[in-house]
Amino acid sequence: MTELTVKAYAKINLTLEILRRLPSGYHEIKSVMQQTGLCDDITITEAHAGITIESASSNVPRNARNSVWKAAALLKERSGADYGVKFKLVKRIPVGGGMGGGSADAAATLVGLNQFWQLGLSQTELFEISQEIGMDVAFCIVGGTALATGRGEIVQPLPPPPKLPLVIVNPGVFVSTRTAYEGLKADELTFTDKSAQMIDAIRRRDFDGIVASLHNDFESTVLDEYPVIGAARRDLVEAGAEAALLSGSGASVFGIARSATQARAIAEALKPRYPFVYATHTVGKE
Ligand code: ATP
Repeated sequence: MTELTVKAYAKINLTLEILRRLPSGYHEIKSVMQQTGLCDDITITEAHAGITIESASSNVPRNARNSVWKAAALLKERSGADYGVKFKLVKRIPVGGGMGGGSADAAATLVGLNQFWQLGLSQTELFEISQEIGMDVAFCIVGGTALATGRGEIVQPLPPPPKLPLVIVNPGVFVSTRTAYEGLKADELTFTDKSAQMIDAIRRRDFDGIVASLHNDFESTVLDEYPVIGAARRDLVEAGAEAALLSGSGASVFGIARSATQARAIAEALKPRYPFVYATHTVGKE
């Protein structure tokens, strides 16, 4: 194999509940995570030596700070593989948008390189490596729909919900995940276990139940601080979405539509108003 292209799918959080701040500074969370059809493409090719990254996107690093690089370097270290590799990264997932683009790229790199270099590492071994990159990478390796608990690294696969048409809007502001956590008063949040309700609705394949269980604890602080994100969320509903929600700590919001046709119409209505608007749908494991 001299070339392999893998897809890295963006996630949304159908629920995101923050249970408490841990002594380590991390937060304990409960989140139903869902992959979407919005994806980056990563093309892996052989190279003489070292790791190089090419990307037309100016807002991702092309050095050891890129999650693709980190994944490749860790995999080389762990497996003793001494190959050079070149990555071509086509970024579509908004950077710093609460859709886990960096984590998705790292996961796709781990899975893709394991195949490309024929390393034969198990999923458990890939999970272990993923923890050195970020908590959400584990979910991206599992894919589809899953419940993430602990710091986000304990991932239990769930059955897929009915295919949900989505419209993703990024209003072009940058929300730092760290600052969003700092702004939260984690110990004052009331835990209502919306995730358990969401899982029930998913198992029943109940569209209205899914819509009624959407919840993100970051909304209370992030929407206050960034009115443009609240406006995007409102605009999605006014344009016809059944409901809309912040993804992760933002700045992306997503709306759920009744049909793909409606999702496309909502996207067309909002495109003139926001820098990034994308109609897609939920996707299952590949
Ligand atoms: P999360 O929802 O997991 O908090 P996010 O979607 O908000 O993540 P990312 O797009 O993953 O944020 O990027 C966050 C930071 O990571 C940015 O500062 C970016 O420069 C850096 N980064 C490193 N590698 C990548 C990559 N491959 N893709 C996107 N961002 C990357």
